[in-house]
Amino acid sequence: MKNVVVIGAGQAGCSVVTRLRGNGFDGSITLIGEEPVVPYQRPPLSKKYLQGEMERPRLFLRPEKYYFDNNIDIRLNQTVTAIDRDNRTVRCGENTHSYTDLVLATGAKPHRLPRASGGELQNVFCVRTLKDIDQMKPAFRPGARLLVIGGGYIGLEAAAVAAKTGLKVTLVEMAERILQRVAAKESSDYFRSLHKGHGVDIREGVGVTRLLGDTQVTGALLSDGSKLEADFVISGIGVAPATKLAEDAGLAIENGVRVDEFGRTSDANIWAAGDCASFPYQGSRVRLESVPNAIDQSECVADNVMGAEKEYEAKPWFWSDQYDVKLQIAGLNQGYDRVVSRTTDNVSKSFWYYQGERLLAVDALNAPRDYMVAKRLIESGKSPVPELVSNLETNLKALLQT
Ligand SMILES: Cc1cc2nc3c(=O)[nH]c(=O)nc-3n(C[C@H](O)[C@H](O)[C@H](O)COP(=O)(O)OP(=O)(O)OC[C@H]3O[C@@H](n4cnc5c(N)ncnc54)[C@H](O)[C@@H]3O)c2cc1C
Repeated sequence: MKNVVVIGAGQAGCSVVTRLRGNGFDGSITLIGEEPVVPYQRPPLSKKYLQGEMERPRLFLRPEKYYFDNNIDIRLNQTVTAIDRDNRTVRCGENTHSYTDLVLATGAKPHRLPRASGGELQNVFCVRTLKDIDQMKPAFRPGARLLVIGGGYIGLEAAAVAAKTGLKVTLVEMAERILQRVAAKESSDYFRSLHKGHGVDIREGVGVTRLLGDTQVTGALLSDGSKLEADFVISGIGVAPATKLAEDAGLAIENGVRVDEFGRTSDANIWAAGDCASFPYQGSRVRLESVPNAIDQSECVADNVMGAEKEYEAKPWFWSDQYDVKLQIAGLNQGYDRVVSRTTDNVSKSFWYYQGERLLAVDALNAPRDYMVAKRLIESGKSPVPELVSNLETNLKALLQT
């Protein structure tokens, strides 16, 4: 009888166990998570939940009862500290759990500002867990001064919630422009102007030299020599895949836990999925930090644990909500050399990333139709001529027939 242990009770861990039981898996399942709550969705943490527009119970992916009813032994508030591959066991406090198949769904951990730069001061928050958000929420009072460090999607979403709530927000980004790592200049320009229109003071090409304050943060010294006062700070400076357990166990690591096309690590009895795993994709290797990937990859792993021998075919997509703008991204823009804009009006736009003649990805801003067509084009390997895309006379849907 198979005996599956899943480490990490987040989106990926939950998807593995629900898929297993949904497929009729009748072996034992243990799901171990270090957070004190059952698996929940993270996207609303920097959006509706932070804004107070979503109640806590709606965050949970499944009610607690689901795990009980489906004979899933869920262990919360427990950290796995070691994997013994020879004996096929994992250590968790005083307990040892044995497995026939082990799934690593350990996710990612936020980078923190170093202690020497004031990262340990009170009122400096990360945006990763429900606990992080519950701790920062009381600071979201109209008029309060917030410094956001990092102009990626998480920092920008938090800034948007704060600005809507009436806080005075400054966002600093060390790179030349916000979203530099993930998006084209056109998308950065769009979001910069959106935030400026809501009163956010965005400073690009400026880092934080040091946070100021004795026990509690009071401000920051910036790399351009200026000083800022702040009542609290949100640090959104990226994440690193949680690979320590895998590394200590001698598994292959390559920007995450290295898995093959089936989701298997360098040990045939150990699998990985979600933010912690890097996998083969179109001739290279990628690691994605997104809910759709966490779900699809985990479901593929669950099927393979049951013997399906199914290859994971990632169909990358992502979204972000800021103010009244919904960004939807299809594909991966890595290696793009040209961006084509399709501008319906000031608010609805899409940016199409090409490498040569090949369409790689699309950022659609309040443009759900562009997103839908682009996603289908990318997934079917079709690349419309760029001039057709930018021409508003073109019926986008017709491009799917070509
Ligand atoms: C604020 C925020 C907003 C986001 N918004 C979007 C969005 O709009 N769209 C989108 O697609 N994606 C979004 N994401 C990303 C998305 O939430 C992640 O890609 C997804 O949660 C990954 O799931 P995961 O299970 O791989 O990792 P996680 O959700 O990080 O879960 C991993 C779990 O494993 C636990 N764990 C780690 N090590 C151990 C151990 N040794 N023992 C026990 N437990 C352990 C961790 O505590 C954690 O609970 C957002 C993320 C955040 C933080």
